[in-house]
Amino acid sequence: MNWARQHARGLVDLKQLAALGWVQTSDFEALSKAQENLEIRVPAHCVEFIQNNETAVLRQFVPDVRETFFLPEELEDPIGDETYTPVEGVTHRYPDRVLLKPTYQCASYCRFCFRRYKVSDGEYRLEGEKLTTALQYIKNNTKIWEVILSGGDPLVLTDTKLAQICEGLSAIEHVKVLRVHTRIPSVLPERINSALISTLRCAKKQLWVVWHVNASVEMSSTSRVAIDALHHAGIGVLSQSVLLRGVNDSSEALEGLFKSLVEWGVKPYYLHYPDLARGTSHFRVPLSEALTLVGGLRGRLSGLCIPQFIVDIPGGHGKVVVEPQWSRQISASTWEFLSPTNGQWHRVEYQTSAVSRPVVE
Ligand SMILES: *Cc1c(COP(=O)(O)O)cnc(C)c1O
Ligand code: SF4
Repeated sequence: MNWARQHARGLVDLKQLAALGWVQTSDFEALSKAQENLEIRVPAHCVEFIQNNETAVLRQFVPDVRETFFLPEELEDPIGDETYTPVEGVTHRYPDRVLLKPTYQCASYCRFCFRRYKVSDGEYRLEGEKLTTALQYIKNNTKIWEVILSGGDPLVLTDTKLAQICEGLSAIEHVKVLRVHTRIPSVLPERINSALISTLRCAKKQLWVVWHVNASVEMSSTSRVAIDALHHAGIGVLSQSVLLRGVNDSSEALEGLFKSLVEWGVKPYYLHYPDLARGTSHFRVPLSEALTLVGGLRGRLSGLCIPQFIVDIPGGHGKVVVEPQWSRQISASTWEFLSPTNGQWHRVEYQTSAVSRPVVE
């Protein structure tokens, strides 16, 4: 099916959700408030999963009254994007890479979205002069080695709009890598067609796609076709997931997801702890619990299946890898390591310069 038609078949209002029995009419007032912050879009592709009682999918896309509960520590802009926005549409936090955000629209609206204060805004467009200014910024900063298309979901744009961006980037010599952050293979896999792939290729950069996927049930046979098409075109595919209560917060769920990804040739890259976006506390598990879950994968699952567990420091101070404590320093050259296979601490001596010792026969 034509992807734009499939996109248009998404469920976007509360009445549609109530007719399916997914929300109660008595909650409409609170849910409308949630909808004001982040529009509703349950992708047509996922309706069947929800009808099959896949709560992992329902919780991600169907609004919840708890989205109207804000905690004092929750922020409108939890990872400080605005502080690091030198020109509209560009977020420049690290010296060698920038986010380029051509749209804030998506093919699905995820209720835990960390950028929900901007996302689903239908007015925003990075076009014409604004796009020229953004590209000029990248051109003027010769340290920028990688451009990450983000948003929103950049792949909801038409091929014509993507082509403008890709052609603009193709003229910038110092940009070597183009990365696309997208949820499309889960929610609108029809979008990944040969025209899209040739459009991205006109950037003449090494392409990487980072697929946002949170549960193995999102990995349908149509998604497989999309991922295979990317691989076939020589595009590297990684995944990023968010650790979400009631969606994937068990070792079985994470193991199932990461193994399936590796079986499809997709390397799990990041597992994010949910950012402090307003109205998302019902999605967070305590960080200590998260660490136990994530630490438990090591030693049990193939290293290929293990993503880095990431906390994005509020305020825009960057992403950090958070790990259970695997090592401790005892003295200058003495270390202890926690075995992921037997759970015991093991002491190791690491001398860094040769110490001459008499050889005792
Ligand atoms: C997350 C992010 C990146 C990408 O970070 P990697 O660790 O390279 O995946 C780049 N820029 C900004 C502003 C980000 O928030
Ligand atoms: S696809 Fe990404 S940007 Fe869009 S709503 Fe989901 S998490 Fe937010």
